[in-house]
Amino acid sequence: MELFKPMNIDEQKSQNNNLSDKIEKVKCLVIGSGPAGFTAAIYAARANLKPLVIQGMQPGGQLTTTTEVDNFPGYPEGITGQAMMDDLKKQAERFGTEVRWGAVSSVDFSKSPHEVVVDEEYKVLADTVIISTGATAKYLGLDSEKKYAGMGVSACATCDGFFYKGQDVAVVGGGDTAAEEATYLSGLCRKVYIIVRKNYMRASKAMLDRVNKTSNIEVLYEHNTKELIGENGVEGAILIKRMGEADEQEVKIDVSGFFLAIGHTPNSVIFKDYLETDEVGYIKTNPGNSKTNVKGVFACGDVQDSTYRQAVTAAGSGCMAAIDAERYLGDLDS
Ligand code: NDP
Repeated sequence: MELFKPMNIDEQKSQNNNLSDKIEKVKCLVIGSGPAGFTAAIYAARANLKPLVIQGMQPGGQLTTTTEVDNFPGYPEGITGQAMMDDLKKQAERFGTEVRWGAVSSVDFSKSPHEVVVDEEYKVLADTVIISTGATAKYLGLDSEKKYAGMGVSACATCDGFFYKGQDVAVVGGGDTAAEEATYLSGLCRKVYIIVRKNYMRASKAMLDRVNKTSNIEVLYEHNTKELIGENGVEGAILIKRMGEADEQEVKIDVSGFFLAIGHTPNSVIFKDYLETDEVGYIKTNPGNSKTNVKGVFACGDVQDSTYRQAVTAAGSGCMAAIDAERYLGDLDS
């Protein structure tokens, strides 16, 4: 069953037209539909908050773009990202969550209840808002990255590294993520290249020490990726090696996995007028809970987590956000 089958534009419009003339009031609005959002919805629904989930531009979130998920507890045989998100959605709906197509276009958190505009067409007034809009991995922008998506190209070594056991792979980037992912992959793969565009890595000293001490990692400084090649998936990468000021040379490496580690963009732009973020844009939450600087607004999952970024940690923080929202409403009532 394909629960995430996109609506065509007319279907979406007709759904929104039915809503445009009314302002809805909800106790709990969840923005985003990855593991954090749906877990928040499951908990909020079971607490009788009757959550409404606005799914966002990528229903199901980042996991729907991966293939097999082998590290989420409870799936001994593994599961595809898509099927797992279908299960989470069904579980949230089972307890009365309404899951709706659309994307939030603007918010006004200066008022209580908070005002949220969906698809620039209709308004939802929410006593509590749970933000679980995730983060988007950055890509180099090569045509071949798209061509080999899920066929050798990945933005998560912890998720997909296992499939490259005993093989040669490459990681692009020079930050902590690249160093960490390369070290992780070095325990699984035969050889790991790190492709770094500068003549140094900006990763922390401790991370770099680990990279330098690992015999099957080779750092290719001053290399840029030109294209990925292969018949039915990635079989190699064509790199451009900078040689001094003006000269450069084409180099081919044979790899079956190509891991992007050039940073993530947290999907927090529409909240920036109200919520405190760090310099990259990750929403700041209080240590140990999901509260933001605005009362009644909670954040969970990758939009507030630059460190772990795993489905299971996102789900855990979604649970926290729902419990925080429920307690916030309970305090208002008492
Ligand atoms: P960063 O922004 O720190 O690093 C991104 C890297 O990707 C840089 O080396 C950058 O190169 C490179 N890059 C960017 N665009 C391109 C491109 N188009 N082509 C080639 N290379 C490119 O991101 P990270 O994800 O590594 O880290 C994000 C934050 O999370 C950091 O604060 C980091 O410290 C933290 N973090 C902490 C960890 C931990 O403590 N365990 C683990 C992982 C991350 P250049 O240097 O040339 O700009």
